Amino acid sequence: MKRPFVIFYAVIIYAIAELLWWGYMLVTLQPARTGMILGEGLMFISVILIGAYQFHRAINKERKLHDQKKNFLLSVTHELKSPLASIKLYLETIQKRRSLSQEQIGDFIGKCLLDVDRLNDMVENMLLASKIENHSYNFPKQEFNLSVVVDSIVNRLQINKCDQQQQLINAEIEPQVQITGDKFALTSVITNLVENAVKYSKPCETVEVKLYSKNNKVCFQVADHGIGIADEEKNRIFEKFYRVGSEDTRNTKGTGLGLYIVKQVLDKHRASIQVKDNEPAGSVFEVVFS
Ligand code: ADP
Repeated sequence: MKRPFVIFYAVIIYAIAELLWWGYMLVTLQPARTGMILGEGLMFISVILIGAYQFHRAINKERKLHDQKKNFLLSVTHELKSPLASIKLYLETIQKRRSLSQEQIGDFIGKCLLDVDRLNDMVENMLLASKIENHSYNFPKQEFNLSVVVDSIVNRLQINKCDQQQQLINAEIEPQVQITGDKFALTSVITNLVENAVKYSKPCETVEVKLYSKNNKVCFQVADHGIGIADEEKNRIFEKFYRVGSEDTRNTKGTGLGLYIVKQVLDKHRASIQVKDNEPAGSVFEVVFS
């Protein structure tokens, strides 16, 4: 990528130098036309510089997208490999060690199922993202009970294994909150927001999930006390493949598709999403369906 850039800028510099040289020659030959020559020259240089700037921006954008796609492929491969390796290990242990108790077997199967859920979430995210991208999905709407959906996602993502036996997700879900929308896509929105809150928090740190209706509007809020999001990143996190930080230093798993899907789906439901800082640390994601 660097070589074409160098050649391009060398050509631009050469063209401007030539222009200045020819301008100088023309002025010395025809001093009476200095004004016209300077005007034409300036115009020409401006056009070249504007073109070069636009080209530079387009190439940079393309390069970023290329890097993000490369990172995406790396993270997807990793995301697929690690749950598969862990499922294989649990199943092999069950197969080889006949002395395992029923309780241990149950525990291993539970862990396999969690990994299967993780794989399933990822595949569904990728499918939904590609459908959104191809405009081949029309978000079929139906009326459904959002409270039940939020409750089942919270129960699935709840981790009760903290040392202090503390509940990780504190949920305040108003019962019977009805909504008209695409149940499958909105399930993905809620899953992504709650999963992120858990993923970007330290183990056992509490996450608060709220669902309520107020003034004929349905509000869904997820607040965590995790790493938080810098102000300059707050808009960028909804871009496709965007992940804060660099792929080399980051140790959380992910594909950068979750919040892209969240934003696209909410736009199709005339719902808004806001990200705020939580106190004393962390983030709050607030969705309002009007
Ligand atoms: P990922 O698969 O990386 O989690 P997302 O699209 O869901 O992708 O999120 C994009 C980026 O936004 C994440 O990589 C992370 O840096 C940031 N982010 C999302 N949710 C949170 C959160 N609750 N706390 C801190 N950072 C977050």
